[in-house]
Amino acid sequence: MFEKAQPLLESYFGYRTFRPGQEQAIRSVLQGENTICVLPTGGGKSICYQIPALILPGTTIVISPLISLMKDQVDALEQVGIPATFINSSLTFSEANQRINDAKKGRYKLLYIAPERLESQEFIEDLKHMNIPLIAVDEAHCISQWGHDFRPSYRQIHSLVKSLSQTPIVLALTATATPRVREDICNLLKIDEESTVITGFERENLSFSVIKGQDRLKFLLDFIKNNHHEAGIIYAATRKNVDQLYERLRKENINVARYHAGMGDLERNREQERFLEDNASVMVATSAFGMGIDKSNIRYVLHFQLPKNMESYYQEAGRAGRDGLKSECLLLYSPQDVQIQRFLIDQSSDRSRMTQELEKLQQMVDYCHTESCLQEFILRYFGEMETEPCGRCGNCTDARVSIDVTKEAQMVLSCVIRMGQRFGKTLIAQVLTGSKNKKVAELGFERLTTYGIMKDQGAKEVSDFIEFLISQELIAIEQGTFPTLYVSPKGKDILLGKQQVYRRETVQVKQVSKNDPLF
Ligand code: ADP
Ligand code: ZN
Repeated sequence: MFEKAQPLLESYFGYRTFRPGQEQAIRSVLQGENTICVLPTGGGKSICYQIPALILPGTTIVISPLISLMKDQVDALEQVGIPATFINSSLTFSEANQRINDAKKGRYKLLYIAPERLESQEFIEDLKHMNIPLIAVDEAHCISQWGHDFRPSYRQIHSLVKSLSQTPIVLALTATATPRVREDICNLLKIDEESTVITGFERENLSFSVIKGQDRLKFLLDFIKNNHHEAGIIYAATRKNVDQLYERLRKENINVARYHAGMGDLERNREQERFLEDNASVMVATSAFGMGIDKSNIRYVLHFQLPKNMESYYQEAGRAGRDGLKSECLLLYSPQDVQIQRFLIDQSSDRSRMTQELEKLQQMVDYCHTESCLQEFILRYFGEMETEPCGRCGNCTDARVSIDVTKEAQMVLSCVIRMGQRFGKTLIAQVLTGSKNKKVAELGFERLTTYGIMKDQGAKEVSDFIEFLISQELIAIEQGTFPTLYVSPKGKDILLGKQQVYRRETVQVKQVSKNDPLF
């Protein structure tokens, strides 16, 4: 059956060759194997089910949580003459009914549905009257508690598969699967792990960097001025941040658009269009912006604040350079952001997911503190183990020399142990710098031999150094109401003098301007 695939690719979609992973995924599906396909954003996942849908008799069901995307996808398919439709909450009752009836008559090759539909028994009954050869599960990480976007209705998918008289093939698709999530998807959707299609996540045209200890606003303005003809996205954490930055950039006569969920539909669409059509060069937005945006010439994605996890970060940053040309992904790091993100996680109602979200946040912070290759850090996070330094990122191109900080590391590690391994970073830094803080005295830490052992440094410097040791996995974190630090097995080796620690000479921390409303 596969021989039909390439001609279809050309006649319907106008492409001559498959992208990495597509061919393998299509072959696997056509051989009747349940399959999981992990390709990066923009890697071309849709083709992996659209072509089998054209080849297999009947109607392929596509489950997708992205309602706004469904319509675009369906429009695009209809334009090239592929009968397709969608059913989601944007339709009236009678519209939905009409489409269901047409689907039962076999009028469509593809039917897109929102996962919530699967909660309706009536809808399941309707599906039983259709000929369904394939179920494509888009954004398949939503099925896993370990993913960053768990959706309970995804758990209905397997029971749907079982309830159909003719068992369909299942194709799970995702861009952001850590090994644990991947395993979960396979278990829950009964996919043999051997039927995994995964391509490299490396984006060779992107260079990542983390900017620390700078006046963020000044950095941003300079950066935009140096790149003023280029299209770029600036992600900010809140709607308020977006509005403030937007106004600030306008004052600088920068041609800027904005996007967040607090704006009206009309204005939001207008702003999006301005950016897509190159009438605005800079888009300032919350993470609400970008899903399904197919703008290939974005030259940079700059995160003004810390994202909540690596999955979101890589997805957002990955919107740069879809055209394959060199592009930059920058993240402006400031330690206060960690507090803000912790606070947001703390406020979120779902207690059961809190520990996990805190862990993910910590990995994001580790990314900001690592001194090794940033691209490698990302790839390893997503489970690629055989990686090499990229040679392009901020750390790979950092010309500062590494210095031996083993002795300082031993001081910190020993202090953590002497304090009983049950306190957080701030208190540990206070003890090391010999703070006169009341709590330090009350707990009797003034008597420790490590008290004041690093008093020639500031508490902030020591605190940064502790973050560095965390990123090197010498200190680990126990998540609770307050995170507490303990020495990892690797850290113990340092204490025993079995290994050395190196760190790049740190830059002078610059003063943040006090009169800036954003801080
Ligand atoms: P994903 O869902 O993985 O983010 P899409 O399926 O939306 O990616 O595809 C991203 C872009 O790549 C689309 O513009 C699509 O038309 C294009 N594309 C997909 N497959 C190919 C191919 N084989 N050759 C060239 N372009 C392709
Ligand atoms: Zn690198």
